[in-house]
Amino acid sequence: MNLIFLGPPGAGKGTLAVKAVEILGVPQISTGSIFRTAIADKTPLGLKVKAIIDAGKLVDDETTIALVKERLIKDDVKNGYILDGFPRTIPQAEALAGFSKVDKVINFDIPDSGVLERLGGRRVCRKCGFNFHAIFNKPKQEGVCDHCGGEVYIRDDDKPEAVQKRLEVYRAQTAPLIDYYRGKGLLLDIDAKPMVDQIVINFKKAMGI
Ligand code: ADP
Ligand code: ZN
Repeated sequence: MNLIFLGPPGAGKGTLAVKAVEILGVPQISTGSIFRTAIADKTPLGLKVKAIIDAGKLVDDETTIALVKERLIKDDVKNGYILDGFPRTIPQAEALAGFSKVDKVINFDIPDSGVLERLGGRRVCRKCGFNFHAIFNKPKQEGVCDHCGGEVYIRDDDKPEAVQKRLEVYRAQTAPLIDYYRGKGLLLDIDAKPMVDQIVINFKKAMGI
């Protein structure tokens, strides 16, 4: 099962993906995490994309497509994958169609108010990437990940100026993918407003599992 998770920043794609990986037994591939790891490791890719990402803009299609194409060659995606954060533009979707067959696209439906509330409080583990929230889902010990003991921090692109920019970019460049995939009969809408446990239920229902 080859799945795409589509939705605005802060819709909970990464959070659901962690659960969906357990349910489906296929890996999550998050372009955002790949970029953040590259930035932390100061690789050539990381140095190239850091300023772009911190400003809330999109990395160019050519770079992003090459990254995903290379990732989908690996053995662990034989039985499927969850693409989280890719494609984010029509050219990315068209390129993907040329090297992989997408089975379903999960569209995370959430109003801007929900996005702002989530991103405003989002805290992320630097080591394992787990998402916490300053109010709704705090780590037991402040600043320390419950799962791996890593440092829990605020992503640079979750700062208010970057969040506004990311929402604009989402509307202009990514939202057109909703109609693109709906037109291909691949889209499954899920209500992404509730808390995680309910979203897992909504996801299973949409998938018929
Ligand atoms: P979120 O879904 O919370 O916005 P991600 O972790 O998916 O965050 O992505 C963080 C940033 O990484 C994006 O704002 C963008 O700059 C970059 N990025 C991730 N995926 C892509 C992509 N498919 N194309 C271009 N840039 C991307
Ligand atoms: Zn962790």
